[in-house]
Amino acid sequence: SVPYLDVTTYIASRPHTGKVALVDASTGRKITYPELWRAVHAVAASLSQSHGVRKGDVVLILSPNSIYFPVVALAVMSIGGVLTTTNPLNTPGEIAKQVSDSKSRFAFTTSALLSKLSTGAAACLPVVILDSDAEPPRDSRVVSSIKEMMASGSGRRAAYEHVSQDDTATLLYSSGTTGVSKGVASTHRNLISMTEIIINRFKLDGSVGGNNHVFLCTVPMFHIFGLVAFATGMLGSGSTVVVLSKFEMGEMMSAIATHRVTYLPLVPPILVAMTQHAQAIRAKYDLSSLKSVLSGGAPLSREVIEGFAEKYPGVEILQGYGLTESTGIGASTDSAEESRRFGTAGMLSPNTQARIVDPDTGESLPMNRSGELWLRGPYVMKGYFSNPEATASTLNSGGWLRTGDLCYIDEDGFLFVVDRLKELIKYKGYQVAPAELEALLHTHPDILDAAVIPFPDREVGQFPMAYVVRKEGSRLSEAEVMDFVATKVAPYKRIRRVAFVSAIPKNPSGKILRKDLIKLATSKI
Ligand code: ATP
Repeated sequence: SVPYLDVTTYIASRPHTGKVALVDASTGRKITYPELWRAVHAVAASLSQSHGVRKGDVVLILSPNSIYFPVVALAVMSIGGVLTTTNPLNTPGEIAKQVSDSKSRFAFTTSALLSKLSTGAAACLPVVILDSDAEPPRDSRVVSSIKEMMASGSGRRAAYEHVSQDDTATLLYSSGTTGVSKGVASTHRNLISMTEIIINRFKLDGSVGGNNHVFLCTVPMFHIFGLVAFATGMLGSGSTVVVLSKFEMGEMMSAIATHRVTYLPLVPPILVAMTQHAQAIRAKYDLSSLKSVLSGGAPLSREVIEGFAEKYPGVEILQGYGLTESTGIGASTDSAEESRRFGTAGMLSPNTQARIVDPDTGESLPMNRSGELWLRGPYVMKGYFSNPEATASTLNSGGWLRTGDLCYIDEDGFLFVVDRLKELIKYKGYQVAPAELEALLHTHPDILDAAVIPFPDREVGQFPMAYVVRKEGSRLSEAEVMDFVATKVAPYKRIRRVAFVSAIPKNPSGKILRKDLIKLATSKI
């Protein structure tokens, strides 16, 4: 429906002024919007004219958040290249696997991470070093630094090729929380429609001249949440984006105070930590500029929302629900009231159709009944890269995306995520949602964090086991945890085993790494 073909042209055409687009929180370095577009054009020119990157070529970014991340992402997509990203914490072997699966042929990384491109296909890529100030390492694969690239491409025109909205723009890998991580191909149309949704749902559309929002980017840009929130959504809205290279509470708070941040997208564990340390944080930092936090990537319980709201009055809590496969947000809340409606993930995004489907019979279910959420909209991925079987089982011929999430929609159209279908615990013939038990455990005054996993049992199949982090000084016992839950749930949902740990393992988008906990629990049988 939009007259633009590639997502970069679309974003560049949105209203913005000469104001600051990107700020590096650690160095204070700023890039204005006119400088951003000059940098994007220069990198696009250098990539296409000097390094032979053509339409359809896959380009990898292996980097923590940086002000150059969106510059490179937008440049690659503008020449029809396909952007892929990876978690800097991945091992060289995992990165090599992704490089070979995605058929990447060019990479951007930092001096510190170069050694991770050391095996298999990853060891053969030409590399551009993203650190702006350091001298690039002496390595035969290093073809340039970002600084040299911006200088050499300056004033030149890229070799633009015809890009259609149905061409692939990004090849991001799903988190791999429930299985093997898969390459999700999203098109320019997917990204443009998601940018429009973000601007519309979060009311970022200032008049011509942009808006006055200052966002803090602490969620990883290699994940769909960070990429569409910042590289496309916020820059498309003409906002200022302050970039933190990695999450550290003190640095995050100091960046909010220094740059007068108004909007903070984050993942639930950060919100929990902010609530826990609220007193110390508020005593030390001036957070008066902060108007909204936007949580996404993992469930946020009502208890957590209420705890945060109590400690940070006046800061609204918004939620976004989505998948890599939906190129971002399939549902979201757009005011504090919605977020506090019993933990809803919000209303469906504009132009979205949804079905709640009985996973056993495939029949559509009425409102307030839980089933698998199916989504249809302009942001639904093209498919999994080179994986027709996985694509066929996730995307049906009618264009519906099977989310794998157990959800219901209430009579007013609010979406509630109950749990992930693959993570349900099967106790005898019953299904138990770990998220429900975790939410309950969070209401215990002595419990700081908790995760519930299936524990294998010959007699009943599986039963719920809880990993619990106690608050400092608490002497809570295993039996007390089990009794607390037993009084509040049906007998088949009872927790039958408890272990205390110092922290619950989570991935960068805030999801509990249940696979790791299951391995830990079963290794001790
Ligand atoms: P894989 O498919 O490889 O296991 P993944 O599904 O964890 O990876 P992502 O695309 O990062 O990879 O995660 C999408 C999932 O995150 C959704 O299907 C949903 O379960 C969960 N999720 C995202 N946002 C929310 C939210 N606001 N509330 C509840 N769950 C959420």
